Amino acid sequence: MKCDNCESLATQTTDMYSFCNKCWCRNFGTITIGGVKRPFLDVLQDSLENMGLSREEGETIDQWGKRCREATSLNPKILGGLA
Ligand SMILES: [Zn+2]
Repeated sequence: MKCDNCESLATQTTDMYSFCNKCWCRNFGTITIGGVKRPFLDVLQDSLENMGLSREEGETIDQWGKRCREATSLNPKILGGLA
């Protein structure tokens, strides 16, 4: 069964909808921080911006992913001093 929003395989299916993981998260994914409930993807975007890891203009997904992996594996602050 396909997702109601895109061509991906639906993984979250009810009588009301069929969504893939990504579309389900976009529609229903939330996180509560300090008592404030916000869409998960908004919190993720803000976190990446705060870490200087927003996707840069012209940067491919692979380049962006590599930059994010390098930032988290080489920065002891981000890993809480475990690196
Ligand atoms: Zn989808």
